[in-house]
Amino acid sequence: MRFTKEGDNFKENLREKVEKISNVNLSSCYQCGKCSAGCPMAESMDITPNQIMRLLNLGDFDTVFNCKAIWDCISCEICTTRCPRELDPAAVMDALRILSKAKGYKGSRNSVEKFNKIFLYCVQMFGRLYEPGLVGGFNMYNVTPFKDVFDLAPAMFFKGKLKPWNFPHIEDIEEVKVMIEKCNKYAEEERTQKK
Ligand code: SF4
Ligand code: SF4
Repeated sequence: MRFTKEGDNFKENLREKVEKISNVNLSSCYQCGKCSAGCPMAESMDITPNQIMRLLNLGDFDTVFNCKAIWDCISCEICTTRCPRELDPAAVMDALRILSKAKGYKGSRNSVEKFNKIFLYCVQMFGRLYEPGLVGGFNMYNVTPFKDVFDLAPAMFFKGKLKPWNFPHIEDIEEVKVMIEKCNKYAEEERTQKK
């Protein structure tokens, strides 16, 4: 088992932070595995949700914060719904992403954060998701501007699934913009406090 180089205080600190942000008492997990059994992303994860709970209880934060699984989690909350201890593993995943990013762990996936930002930007611009904008923006960010352009996109276009000219429009778009601006501001304040 690997421990953090900063020592025991740092570990205690991290455990407290995970529990505080997620509002989950980690030691209540009795490793039944129901969260992992229902998780739609478990197959692609390098560590399953119940293993993450176990590693947190063992204090192996290096493994948890550097794993791929916390970035594969899609926040569907199936794990939370299934947990017989009424714990909230989905909130634990959220807390781990926040702390992994804040503490500069190498496992942090900038692409996931970027995807979320572009997604929110589209909603802010149009009031709801504009898929071509999301895909185009994400491809540009990853410096793969032609990804899916010659294979997937034509197939979708001819099936009528892709209509780039069809910009979504909703009433009261200004309200959505204000709402997202407020959420961003609140999230920034929260982030600063949690560091
Ligand atoms: S379902 Fe709940 S109690 Fe069971 S392993 Fe997952 S977090 Fe722990
Ligand atoms: S919230 Fe994340 S960990 Fe939980 S079931 Fe969904 S993908 Fe899996």
